[in-house]
Amino acid sequence: MNSNFLQTPIVYLKGVGPNRAELLRTELGIESFQDLLQHYPNRYLDKTQYYKIAQLKDSGADVQILGKIIHLKTVEQKRGKRLVATFKDETGQMELVWFRSQKWIRENLKLNEPYVVFGRVNKYGSIFSMPHPEMELQKVHQAGLKISMQPIYPSTEKLANSGITNRIVSKLVQQLFIETKNQFPETLSLVLLEELKLISKSEALFNIHFPKNQELLAKAQFRLKFEELFYVQLQLLNKKAVRKQKIKGLAFDQVGASFNQFFKNHLPFELTNAQKRVIKEIRNDLGSSAQMNRLLQGDVGSGKTIVALMCMLLAIDNNYQACLMAPTEILANQHYNGLKELLGEMDITIEILTGSVKKSVRKGIHERLENGELNILVGTHALLEDKVQFQNLGLAVIDEQHRFGVAQRSKLWQKNEVPPHILVMTATPIPRTLAMSLYGDLDISVIDELPPGRKPIKTVHRYDANRLKVFQFIKDEIRKGRQVYIVYPLIQESEALDYKDLMDGYESIARDFPLPDYQISIVHGKMKPADKDYEMERFVKGETQIMVATTVIEVGVNVPNASVMIIESAERFGLSQLHQLRGRVGRGAEQSFCILMTSHKLSSDAKTRLETMVRTNDGFEIAEVDLKLRGPGDLMGTQQSGLLNLKIADIVKDNQILKSARYYAIQVLKDDPKMAKPENIGIRQAYINLSKDKAIWGYIS
Ligand code: ADP
Ligand code: MG
Repeated sequence: MNSNFLQTPIVYLKGVGPNRAELLRTELGIESFQDLLQHYPNRYLDKTQYYKIAQLKDSGADVQILGKIIHLKTVEQKRGKRLVATFKDETGQMELVWFRSQKWIRENLKLNEPYVVFGRVNKYGSIFSMPHPEMELQKVHQAGLKISMQPIYPSTEKLANSGITNRIVSKLVQQLFIETKNQFPETLSLVLLEELKLISKSEALFNIHFPKNQELLAKAQFRLKFEELFYVQLQLLNKKAVRKQKIKGLAFDQVGASFNQFFKNHLPFELTNAQKRVIKEIRNDLGSSAQMNRLLQGDVGSGKTIVALMCMLLAIDNNYQACLMAPTEILANQHYNGLKELLGEMDITIEILTGSVKKSVRKGIHERLENGELNILVGTHALLEDKVQFQNLGLAVIDEQHRFGVAQRSKLWQKNEVPPHILVMTATPIPRTLAMSLYGDLDISVIDELPPGRKPIKTVHRYDANRLKVFQFIKDEIRKGRQVYIVYPLIQESEALDYKDLMDGYESIARDFPLPDYQISIVHGKMKPADKDYEMERFVKGETQIMVATTVIEVGVNVPNASVMIIESAERFGLSQLHQLRGRVGRGAEQSFCILMTSHKLSSDAKTRLETMVRTNDGFEIAEVDLKLRGPGDLMGTQQSGLLNLKIADIVKDNQILKSARYYAIQVLKDDPKMAKPENIGIRQAYINLSKDKAIWGYIS
């Protein structure tokens, strides 16, 4: 069987005409034989087991029932008529219903003979009903029990209504196995098959669709999951290797005056061991002549900024410029001010470029950037504009990367003839498993330690009914000189309502915390940037004690004196967002608090989120829970990567297989980087087919 055969359009499969082909394409994305082959069942029905009518639930699930038809009638309805059979087993009765082919069915159905019916049940009033059941006389069913597990395929309402039932899909797959004689090219090497005790590709494919028994099903699943993850890893690793070889990087081979001077005279604190380790990792990268593409993960407050600065100093020491891009103006400003303060009297020129920088000023910045006068440019995506030309950009740091898309990152690449080194910083911890899949072609550094002396933030969950007590607590803290954030959700779909909540909340806070004792700032997305900055500044300077805001403050803002974070309607926030928000406090020496306010009505997921927040401050642990709750599809970056459109493996549940797949992918490439050895021919071919098959790989700069 040659693998090109599998690319045959599905319309050429016996049993598929143009109509079905179109439905399969639009409803399931099945276009070729290959796609159908990989349309794996999502569960299996034990054909030897029957559901009892008395146990039926209104779940819309497919069930198999053994019983007899005791009565058949035609019912007139508004449009046409329907044929209704009363179907009975020893526990009760239900209805089988037909809207089409009634004549044929009426003539062929046998009353009072045991039938096995299969299909989806709905409940109408107190009666369960199964429209267009698949049915067989029990004796036929029994005779045909070569396989006891029937595949149940993912389907859609429209497909089922168009007569492409589960049985039809199953038949089509059978037809495919007939036409291919169940001979599929092996896609893994013998070495791997033997070492991992994997069954062959053909055997796996057959048993995933038509399992002979539980054991073979498990083996088939394992083999196919492994294979899927193995190729994902192979692709990522290969990409990384190619990048390292092919793309010449700028070698920062000297550690010079700026870095050393800063280290000796300007470090405001002792670096944590994690910071030291990460700086060393980055220095090694920058010193080699390969282009660096590194993801720096560190929980909120772990001190990524100073790491970024020291890397930028390395660039400057090697006569290159550096830039730092942040997702919002507030953050860019904060970085700019923070960096300037850290640099002190050092002879480093630094500027900020955002959307609100005046044209005249902007022009000057463009010039100084181009003639190399400027060392560091901080900014928002304004940095990406074509007008912004560096003399020699050596390092681009991107903060809070999930706010930027791939296209934007690749723009940065093109800011220099030889691509600059890229350091992407993120405070949203990505579970290792996901990072391996998503960013397998990036190098990853992790700051897994907070600066010393931080008191863990105390987090509590309070119901709205306790608001008075919470307000009293806020007053006590403010009396001690602290500042407080009060955050309201803002979700695009319900924006108008959310703004109303925010303004109502603001008014009630203004009543409870009256002038002149209390000063309140308010910041939200509908304000002009200048007004936002003004309000923000007042809070940063300590002129206001309370900051009422939407999630615009989520990212990066640093006000060490703010020690209380109140999150309103906390049940509406996702876990990572809650964690980000909480990270706004706990930055000073004082004990900090996070209070999650909710109503009494909580979904079970919301309860898990709140409990997790109360239990732990560990961003990685939180990320793991988040991943379990939401699945990888919702997490940052995964939509655009397309990488997680896995057919059978599950990043979360198949964590162990993923690790093993990565391990073996590394081994194969280490031993045979070009996959050219005879034993790797199958791998190489599959790899090439995958690469041209789906354009899912070019997702990362
Ligand atoms: P994030 O990783 O969230 O960007 P920042 O870089 O903003 O964190 O650092 C958070 C705070 O911790 C800043 O006020 C910073 O000055 C301080 N900080 C960073 N590293 C250390 C350290 N090694 N010791 C003490 N304080 C530190
Ligand atoms: Mg930061």
